Amino acid sequence: MHPETFLRRGAGCVVAAFLFTLTVSAAEPARWWKGNLHTHSLWSDGDDYPEMITDWYRQHGYDFLGISDHNTLQNSNKWANAAKAKGGPVALEKYLKRFGKDWVEQRDGEKGKEVRLKRLEEYRGKFEEPGKFLLMQCEELTDRYKTSPIHMNVHNIQERIAPQGGDSVLEVMQNNVNAVFAQRERTGVPMIPHLNHPNFGWGVTAEELAQVKRERFFEVYNGHPTVHNSGDSVHASTDRIWDIVLTQRLGQLGLEPMFGMGTDDAHHYHKFSATNSNVGRGWIFVRATELTPEKLIAAMEVGDFYASSGVTLKEVKRSQSELTLEIAAEPGVTYVTEFIGTRKGYDGKSEPVRTAKGDAIRVTHRYSGDIGKVLATVKGTKAGYALKGDELYVRALVTSSKPKKDSNEQPEFERAWTQPVVK
Ligand SMILES: [Zn+2]
Ligand SMILES: [Zn+2]
Repeated sequence: MHPETFLRRGAGCVVAAFLFTLTVSAAEPARWWKGNLHTHSLWSDGDDYPEMITDWYRQHGYDFLGISDHNTLQNSNKWANAAKAKGGPVALEKYLKRFGKDWVEQRDGEKGKEVRLKRLEEYRGKFEEPGKFLLMQCEELTDRYKTSPIHMNVHNIQERIAPQGGDSVLEVMQNNVNAVFAQRERTGVPMIPHLNHPNFGWGVTAEELAQVKRERFFEVYNGHPTVHNSGDSVHASTDRIWDIVLTQRLGQLGLEPMFGMGTDDAHHYHKFSATNSNVGRGWIFVRATELTPEKLIAAMEVGDFYASSGVTLKEVKRSQSELTLEIAAEPGVTYVTEFIGTRKGYDGKSEPVRTAKGDAIRVTHRYSGDIGKVLATVKGTKAGYALKGDELYVRALVTSSKPKKDSNEQPEFERAWTQPVVK
């Protein structure tokens, strides 16, 4: 309303206008928030101080961040050896320059100068701002079964969870997921696990991941150079794993769909290269009305987010009848959207992958082209797919013509992954 129009009206209208304003402010429109929920600091095997890492993300357009160190929260008394810790004197010099001697706490230890790592509760106030930037407490629950690494991030965790172990890859995953939900139920605080990098150390197969109850999220994209997002001649890519997992959960197992995450899994903050795990490689955009852990998690649990390794989406609409999106195009870059899904009545038979001698190996099986089929391909910045009604699910994968910077999996192009529409 124009202010003059407002002033010329009577008192009754003033009350009406006031009520109108109240109604509008109570229902904030949902917007996209950018975040990374997988990264490491000196609290485990990252090579920088958590404030420096947080500062980078905040200055580079992120709205939320979860620093997820291996099997630890940032809440104890921990000192790093200034010379020998990862990052060494270079990290300390940059830390001192950015935050000053009054903030950086140093002492002389038996083996040289030591620096105290600030607890999350000590430093979050320097960065957090309502509606602007949020730090979520996370842990990378780092477990294994025999030689298979099994890592799971927990977001908005309230108390450290120790790796739960188990007698198979599936059991290790399930025991850790169960521990997360036990804490969620006990504390009443929403928190979610996500399965990290299934192809790291070729740890987790699609068939194992499909069976984990209450696990709703996994990393379809992880920016670490040794996690094999695209698989190889023997191992399925994370995209292929996703399609097998979705098909089996929705078509056979009666389990909820699984959603795809994009993360950095950064460890190296000083040298940028294809063989280092750096910041800014994978992220998610979550659509929520407020920047709080509760709202972000609630949106993620209904699939109102997408993963990206470079492509930004202006809009994503997921309904029972269609999946549409619009890309925030960059000049000189072209885009192809593939709508991928599995139709009811699919051929679900599989074959194990075998050695030259014919022995089956423990990797994701091979399936028919019915699973994760490209149902439509659309070029341009707007794409849509109208469901025919026989799809178990449909998801969209956008691939740009822009090569992914510092990729260890050439050729790689920037992408975005929407969550599936489930019939
Ligand atoms: Zn990991
Ligand atoms: Zn990690």
